[in-house]
Order: sequence, then C-alpha cells, then structure tokens
Amino acid sequence: MRDRAEVVIIGAGIMGLAIAYNLARHHGVRDVVVVDQGYLCGGASGRNGGGVRAQFSTEENINLMRESIRICRDFATELGVNVWFRQGGYLFLVRDEAGRRRLEASAAVQNRCGLPTRILTAREAQAIVPDLSTEGVVAAAFNPDDGVVFPWPFIWGYSQGAERLGAEIATFTKVVGFETRGRAIEGVVTSRGTIKTSRVVNAAGAWSPGIARMLGVELPNKPHRHEICASEPLKPFLGPLVADLSNGLYFSQSMRGEIVGGVSNDDVPHGLDHGSSHRFLALYAKAILAACPRLGSVKVMRQWSGCYDLTPDANPIVGFVDEVDDFVQASGFMGHGFMIAPVMGRLVAELVATRAVSPLFERWNLRRFREGKLLRETMIIG
Ligand SMILES: Cc1cc2nc3c(=O)[nH]c(=O)nc-3n(C[C@H](O)[C@H](O)[C@H](O)COP(=O)(O)OP(=O)(O)OC[C@H]3O[C@@H](n4cnc5c(N)ncnc54)[C@H](O)[C@@H]3O)c2cc1C
Repeated sequence: MRDRAEVVIIGAGIMGLAIAYNLARHHGVRDVVVVDQGYLCGGASGRNGGGVRAQFSTEENINLMRESIRICRDFATELGVNVWFRQGGYLFLVRDEAGRRRLEASAAVQNRCGLPTRILTAREAQAIVPDLSTEGVVAAAFNPDDGVVFPWPFIWGYSQGAERLGAEIATFTKVVGFETRGRAIEGVVTSRGTIKTSRVVNAAGAWSPGIARMLGVELPNKPHRHEICASEPLKPFLGPLVADLSNGLYFSQSMRGEIVGGVSNDDVPHGLDHGSSHRFLALYAKAILAACPRLGSVKVMRQWSGCYDLTPDANPIVGFVDEVDDFVQASGFMGHGFMIAPVMGRLVAELVATRAVSPLFERWNLRRFREGKLLRETMIIG
C-alpha cells in the first residue's frame, strides 16, 4: 500500500469508489488511495435492493436522480461492465388520503421537472402489474423510466475503472486514527500503516460518525439495520419495482428472475448490525402477500441485511466541515445512496478537486443541523 497520497478516501462502497473514479477521470487526480476495513461489497453497497428512481419530492433530488439514471444507462459503455440495468419503472402505492396527497404533490414537482410520472387508480396500477391486489390501494404513482440494477457489477466497474486510471483500492485496511497538526490532517493511520495525506473524504456510510469522531467532529447520522431477501428465480412477470409507502414494503424482479424485497421494521434499534431475523420474514411475508397474493407459494432462497445511514432530515451530509481543513463528508444517504452515487461521485470529485462549494453542498453541509436549517424529503422507502 502507498505510504502517501494526494487524497485518501475512507470507504470502498459505491460512494467512495465513484468519487475515486471521477477524481481520476474528470480532474486528473490519480494519486488516490481508497481504504476499506473489509471486502468490496461488504457495506450497504453490496447489500441493497438495486432500485434506481427519480420519483422524489424535491426538485433537487429529482434532477440529481434523473442524471444518475442517465449515467446508469451509459455505465456499460463507459466502464465496460454490464450492470443489468432494467427500466421497468417504479410503482408507488398508498393506502390513505394523506398518502394520495403526498403522491400527488410529489408527482406535480416531478412533472414540472420533465418526468412522465402519472397518478393512477388502483385498477390502472393493476393494468401494469396484473398480479397486484387492489384491496386497500387508494392511489398509485408510476414513472416508467425508473428501474433496478445489480449492485455488485456497479461496484466492480467503478473499482476497476479507478484502478485503471491510477487509484489504489486497499481492502482489509481499517482506519484507526489520524495524524493532525492544528486544523490540518497530516496522515491517515490504518491497520496496515500510515498514509501521509492532507486531504480526506469520509465515505464510510453508516460508519462515518465513528470516523469523524476520531477528528473531533460529531455527525448526527445513525446506522439502522434493514433486512432484505431474495426468492427462487421465477419466469419474468413483474415489470416495475413496487413500493408501498404505507408500510415500507418494496419488491422487484431481478434480471435473474428472483423477487428481491424488504419491508420497514420500526422495532429495530439504531446501531451497526448485520443480523437477520424470522421477525423480518414474518413482516415481509404478511406485507407481500397482501400486495401480491400470487407470491405466497414462492420459496425464499436467501435473506441478509445491511445498514441504512439515516440523517434527521432525510437528506445527506456532504461537504467540508468547519472544524478540520480538507476533511470532506459524503455520507447520510439514507436508503437511496446507491442510486444517487453515480451523480454524487461526479459532484463530490469536483468539490475535492476544485474546493469550489456549490449551492447544493452549502445546503447539505453538516452546519445546517447546528443552524436549524433542516431540509425535507417525503418520498422515503423504509
Ligand atoms: C437492505 C438495503 C436495501 C437498500 N436498497 C437500496 C436501493 O434499492 N437503492 C438505493 O439507492 N439504495 C439502497 N440502499 C442504500 C444504499 O445501499 C446505501 O445508501 C449506499 O450503498 C451507501 O453507500 P456508501 O458507499 O455510502 O456506504 P457503504 O457501501 O456502506 O460503504 C462504506 C464502507 O466504509 C467501510 N468502512 C467503515 N468503517 C471503516 C474504517 N474504520 N476503515 C475503513 N473502512 C471503513 C465499510 O467497510 C464500507 O465498505 C439500501 C440499503 C440497504 C441496507
């Protein structure tokens, strides 16, 4: 492992790798080491549902996600890796009038941004997913451009792309401390030695508060275990990813035919935990059978979990911090960090390379929690 680097990125999840790739590709910053305490795909980036959507409630998130979808479409051409991107749309369901108002308000913003999102009756939703039960469904929203990817090749694509351009990806290398002088970072201390550097990106996802604390910076994001499972492969029958905003149920069919899905479980306490439970399977089975009774006879093949990285206002923490020089945060991406990473990798790389703070990163700065300038996003699953 290199013992000095222009930039050290902590965390080789989708965020850290996308930033490393874009630093090299668009800014010529190739002397970069990405360190990870484990293996590639060991964090949330290797454990998620692969959903990619632009159906959000703020113009900011809608436009960012639309750009991410465009990058997903071009990913194989740019990076030579097939990420199995399938645009079957996202079908959101709501079961009460408040939910309908929330969907309608979000769809209006999406339409203003140029998205073809439509509000549907339960019957119209059933025309898109014939196996859907309409019982209790008050309204739905559908955007045909949303879709799903297979997360692992996405990680491999960025990792290999960054390495080809000169970055080093150091797995099984845990950050345990920092060398500092006043406000300046002088080195990152790892389980495999110290890397001299003055510029660090904290892309450690649900672990990012622990990294920041080593430098005396307190982040308000909290890890929260989310369980997920995959069924045996079935013949293709399900076009969109179906998401029920009333209970956090979501499920989609992968390119291999598996039904991959999860559901909210509010009883899980905050904390770093990758355990799996029968309780989740019971909650999921109840919710998915109500939404799609046909799946009752399908076998569950695998279940696993990962950590959402939750912030108090459901928006990320990105940008420089006031306490330490050249220490960039890129975390707090909730349950939608995978889909935002393609565009975020570009924007954070630009921030690191140029130090020019955009209005977006002013709003997403850590300082907003101290100043009481909390943001809002209502289209959150789970
Ligand atoms: C069950 C589940 C389903 C999800 N579904 C979706 C979805 O459909 N669509 C979507 O967009 N998002 C989804 N998400 C969220 C998404 O997976 C995350 O937002 C995203 O992967 C975060 O990426 P990241 O790179 O910030 O973090 P991670 O992928 O968690 O990477 C952080 C890395 O930091 C490393 N690290 C931690 N501490 C240290 C240390 N001390 N030293 C070195 N390295 C360290 C970790 O090993 C880890 O690899 C889901 C998440 C879960 C758990």
